[in-house]
Amino acid sequence: MRIRKTSLLFGLSCLIVFGCIVLLLGKNKNLAGEDQNDVEDLEKKVKKLEQDLKRNYEIVQKIGKSVSDLLKESPIQNENVLKGTNVKQDLLKSDGKSVTNDCLFVEKPPLQPDVQMLNLYSKMKFDNPDGGVWKQGWDVQYDDGQFSAQNKLKVFVVPHSHNDPGWIKTFQKYYEDQTRHILNNMVRKVSEMDNRKFIWAEISYLDLWWKESDQESRDKLKQLVDNGQIEIVTGGWVMNDEANTHYYAMIEQLTTGHEWLKQKLGFSPRNGWAIDPFGYSSSMAYLLKRSGLENMVIQRVHYAVKKAMAAQKNLEFRWRQNWDRDGQTDMLCHMMPFYSYDVPHTCGPDPKICCQFDFRRLSSSGQSPIHCPWKAPPQPITNVNVEKRATLLLDQYRKKSTLYKTNVLLVQLGDDFRYDTATEFDQQFINYQKLFDYMNSRSDWNVEAQFGTLKDYFDSLRDNVAQSVERFPSLSGDFFTYADIDDHYWSGYYTTRPFYKQLDRVLESYVRSAEIIYSMTWSHLHRMSTVSERSRNWMSRMMALLSDARRHLGLFQHHDGITGTAKDHVVQDYAKMMQTGIQDSQTIIQQCAHFLLHPDQADLEPQLNTRHFLVDDEYSKPNELPLKTLIDLRNSKRIVFYNSLASERVQVVTLRVSHYNVEVLNEKSELIQVQVSPVFITSHQLSNEEFEISFIISVSPLGMSTYTIRKCVGTVQENTNLNVARVVVRDSRSIDSVVPFTVDVKERLDPFTLENSHLKASFDSNGLLSSISHGERETASVAIQFVHYGTRRGNQMMSGAYLFLPDGPAQVVEANAEENGVRIVEGSIRSQVVVTLPLIVHQVTLHRSPGIDGLHLDIDNLVNLSGQRNLEVAMRFVTNVNSGAAFYSDLNGLQMTRREKWEQLPLQAQFYPMPAMAYIEDSATRITLATKQPLGVASLSSGQLEVMLDRRLNQDDNRGLGQGILDNVVPTLNSFRLLVEPRIVTCKGSHGGRRPDGYPSLSAHRSLHDLLYPVHQLVADNDDSAKKLHDNFKPALSPSGSDIHVVNLRTGTQLPDDQAVEPSPSSVSLVLHRLGFDCCFPPSGLDSSADNNNNNNGEFSLDKLFPDYFGNRIRSMSLTSLQHQGPAIEKSFTIALRPMEIYTFELQP
Ligand SMILES: [Zn+2]
Repeated sequence: MRIRKTSLLFGLSCLIVFGCIVLLLGKNKNLAGEDQNDVEDLEKKVKKLEQDLKRNYEIVQKIGKSVSDLLKESPIQNENVLKGTNVKQDLLKSDGKSVTNDCLFVEKPPLQPDVQMLNLYSKMKFDNPDGGVWKQGWDVQYDDGQFSAQNKLKVFVVPHSHNDPGWIKTFQKYYEDQTRHILNNMVRKVSEMDNRKFIWAEISYLDLWWKESDQESRDKLKQLVDNGQIEIVTGGWVMNDEANTHYYAMIEQLTTGHEWLKQKLGFSPRNGWAIDPFGYSSSMAYLLKRSGLENMVIQRVHYAVKKAMAAQKNLEFRWRQNWDRDGQTDMLCHMMPFYSYDVPHTCGPDPKICCQFDFRRLSSSGQSPIHCPWKAPPQPITNVNVEKRATLLLDQYRKKSTLYKTNVLLVQLGDDFRYDTATEFDQQFINYQKLFDYMNSRSDWNVEAQFGTLKDYFDSLRDNVAQSVERFPSLSGDFFTYADIDDHYWSGYYTTRPFYKQLDRVLESYVRSAEIIYSMTWSHLHRMSTVSERSRNWMSRMMALLSDARRHLGLFQHHDGITGTAKDHVVQDYAKMMQTGIQDSQTIIQQCAHFLLHPDQADLEPQLNTRHFLVDDEYSKPNELPLKTLIDLRNSKRIVFYNSLASERVQVVTLRVSHYNVEVLNEKSELIQVQVSPVFITSHQLSNEEFEISFIISVSPLGMSTYTIRKCVGTVQENTNLNVARVVVRDSRSIDSVVPFTVDVKERLDPFTLENSHLKASFDSNGLLSSISHGERETASVAIQFVHYGTRRGNQMMSGAYLFLPDGPAQVVEANAEENGVRIVEGSIRSQVVVTLPLIVHQVTLHRSPGIDGLHLDIDNLVNLSGQRNLEVAMRFVTNVNSGAAFYSDLNGLQMTRREKWEQLPLQAQFYPMPAMAYIEDSATRITLATKQPLGVASLSSGQLEVMLDRRLNQDDNRGLGQGILDNVVPTLNSFRLLVEPRIVTCKGSHGGRRPDGYPSLSAHRSLHDLLYPVHQLVADNDDSAKKLHDNFKPALSPSGSDIHVVNLRTGTQLPDDQAVEPSPSSVSLVLHRLGFDCCFPPSGLDSSADNNNNNNGEFSLDKLFPDYFGNRIRSMSLTSLQHQGPAIEKSFTIALRPMEIYTFELQP
């Protein structure tokens, strides 16, 4: 173990030193009887240890001082506005082994939980027998003697209203038509009686309501939240989807909601509520846990899984992460047992009876009638019928309670957009209160029923188990793929509307880049002696843009947003917001870049309306691919590249320019190699006005670097730094050459290869990939096929926005040599194969680069399903990897999890979400596919990996949307990175056994980051002013280490009522993710600089990342920055981060 100068293994330095002694003593034993050198060696180590002890003592002293200083002066003392206790500081405990050896962490199998979902699945039959009134369960019976005066049934009835921020109507329209009235009535009706309760989840709606409410209503809401009558649950901007979302955006939408709650209501959520997302991810449980939540409720889980868990009374469990080695991620989760969260399916197993206790279904004036489909309507509760009605209801409560371990029962009372009238509040509150009063008056019934919040329920539950939450089983795994009835698997929405799923990732990338550069600018301003009013104003106006972009991103994480399951016009509404978010982020990026590169910031008067740079491509329409920026080379152009990652980027960039004979100079004004390639206007016509140039750039961590492009004065032949790409086209038509290219047109192609110093990719005579080799050895045969599915016929349910119900195995899209063009553009820096197939234009790109892009292949598919009827298309890799029934897919980009093909399940059940990555492997090879956009993925045979690309469906699938999916964007782009990695012989990693956890290689992590967070190109608009700017910006002294990812660097927002938003003058959140990675695939491509090769063993120092930015104090926070955790530390400390964990630190700007 090594302890660095001024380093602190966070929190437990003394313990670590003790650990060193143990380690040394252990060694000593082995040394007995060995030679003098070893003894000397030992002496040296003891001396070193003494020094380390001294240093640690000093550090501990320093911490002590920091803590006492903080207690004197810090604003933390004023935290009382937040309710509840602070999150325990348990995640920063240092774990010596995992810190010093990443490989050991991955090799060591995780804890064996009581329930592992893979094991459960392997034992389940999925036979779906008819269970009687509880169709998907059984005939529930109970023992009267179970309840006594000492052990009463405690019932908490939780009134709720599920408000989708967009689905059939837009977010705004729902608010105007329904949600406004729901919130107004909620505040009014709940405050009428002390025993009335209500829960609310969606902060996006609360924000709209707050803005238009008077102070009295706001105060009333705050009072109801303060006294516990209204509980804010989860507190996210929306109730996010858990299949397609990436953890960056999940954290962002939670943070946006929590930031709002903290400032408007002084409230920290404790309980999670996700009743409508279509399947559940363990990543969400993790993020909630780290955000300070203690309990959570979920609902849409496969009916057979619910039944199996109910049979064991396992519906309440401690949800544990697959990677967890010590139970530190356990989150108490309550799974609802029945088909739906509506009233008929929440009081007990019999919907016919429960429906009679939905008093909204009483006929009443002023409300649209709702009927019970079981033809037994509710009755108003009167003195005459109360005994009979209460008996009926209590019977359901008791039956439901048998499915759980305790006598504490949770009963939800609500539905979509319920409680929009005061009448409904009265109907439910008054009738239920009569029932409760009667039940509670009957001492012989041994029941205590009341309205409650989730807090009321979970507090009582935890009391009931007498602090021993251990009574609930631990469970690891996730709840995909969801089926609600029969074989209706909800695997379609993993892919529905892929264009907008990619647009989401593009927006994420822009918002993240804007956040980081904004925060560096904010810190820079704080470090200046004087800051002009104009500069402050400029930062505030940019914060307003950033705040809106966060909200637009947050809104789309909704379970009818990124899922693609909203009406066409609602999708357009989201897309418009995302487009605005991208444009505004681009504005922030170019404004801050100009400021940070400016040599004279003190005199700079920044203006938001001045455009200094064109950033990347232009997102001119919300439902079209961006327009490629054409760089006009009549004058030379300076291009600033901005790298939002905290590691150095060396990579190929490709730009579109107006001239082919160009020179490129790096920031030291040295000429560098450049390749020119043609732009095809159609498959057989080259442009003579636009060209693509490719060259290799190097940009420091979180930095910027300037390159200059200019026309070459000599001829192409004289331009020794220019490589003109070779063009080969398979086409039956003739193609005119365009200077400087010669096009070699062939009627037939032979198989061919493209290679760089790392890999050789072989292609067949149709231009499709066939194998990948490293060095002399063929690592894997990798054939790409495109396949398509139809949907069922006749009277059966057919595929739609949610459901995938194929008509049988996929058919291969035949590549017809006559009709399908192939073009190969090969150059010294970048080579590309483009194959035009029916429905798809398929591109594979290989880079000759010393960076990560030299290790993988880029795969881009342009999909065109226009005019098709009920067709779904997928890309299938057929390889010789002996992967058996297993493959690995990710959960929210946070973790990889094992999937298996289940023989007892139909085809549509074998598809899983692929929000970021999937791989297959055997003992020799791993094939990883990173994806830019979330899509459905399966491995239907050993060695195969199949990714859905797009789907066009002519009908509704009966889940409420009321339309098919026919608004496919043409073309839709799907982008991937393919990595084939030979495993180090004898290196095991996480491979072997039936472990549920998997880990990408470091290269795979880097490939994914490369895809998700591309380098931004900023083209100087005005040549004269750009010349004055610095050539580079290098904020980091050293990279974060390739195992530590900077998730976000986010300046807090102040949200004063009735005023514009402002950046927080005191708080910037740095969110770090320590990656877990498999060591068996060494990152051979990351050799551009010595540091790139090194991961830092999870050690992180803010001083090294930002020597000149941010204040000297940093504090550990809960994930969404709601609560402080532990004392402040100094910037120079080295912090040890545990593998797989995400940390938030509060920095001073
Ligand atoms: Zn919903």
